[in-house]
Amino acid sequence: MKLIKEKYDEIVAGIEYADMYDGRECGVDIYRCDKCGCNFFTRYKDKGVTPFTIKCRNCNNGTAFHEDSISEMIASSLGIIVHNWVRPTFEQLMELDDCMVEHVLNGGLMLEDELPNCPMTGEQKDLICKIAKVKDIGDLSDGFHTFNDLYHQRVVLFAALVKAYRTKAWKSWKHEDGKDCFGGGWFIVGIDTPEGSYTYHYEEKYWGLFDCIALEKAKHWDGHTSKDVTRLLSLQE
Ligand SMILES: [Zn+2]
Repeated sequence: MKLIKEKYDEIVAGIEYADMYDGRECGVDIYRCDKCGCNFFTRYKDKGVTPFTIKCRNCNNGTAFHEDSISEMIASSLGIIVHNWVRPTFEQLMELDDCMVEHVLNGGLMLEDELPNCPMTGEQKDLICKIAKVKDIGDLSDGFHTFNDLYHQRVVLFAALVKAYRTKAWKSWKHEDGKDCFGGGWFIVGIDTPEGSYTYHYEEKYWGLFDCIALEKAKHWDGHTSKDVTRLLSLQE
């Protein structure tokens, strides 16, 4: 896993300077299916390599070939749904099969909605809100709790844990590379457990809730993901 992390970091660090096609801000690409003739629209969100053909999502049978490009303005005026080519995060990469991992480590991009734990698009969120008759996706409930309730529970419970293990906890506005978390407005808070650290990101309004040392930048991230939450169970007095 260490090797994959190193290779991934290398790609991310070097891609801006890499001598290769940069499709960002170059409009919308059209892929057309050779069987059903259906069009599929994409744009580059990141710099990287994309395939010349993709499997048709309409007939599930044909192959869609890159045919043409149009401007963002035209795509928007036609109300076209455009799919984004993106580079998976390292956490997402860890969920992919070997073949896709190799693709990504060679600079390859993926369609955003095919990524593991892919966040919903704005359109999908709007549709769900409409069906559930709520204003915001955070107000969506399973009949007992809304997402907002659960997030609030999570932040308070973790703050209580930080308070209980104050000497093992830390928080910072910056990641280990010295950059602001998510570009600003967020911080990272972690607890060092015997099995390694576990961290969350929270919005700046919660900074004061966490009673622990503030570091100039976050400690080293060892690759832990949400499934490693059980590390918190290894905490002892
Ligand atoms: Zn098709």
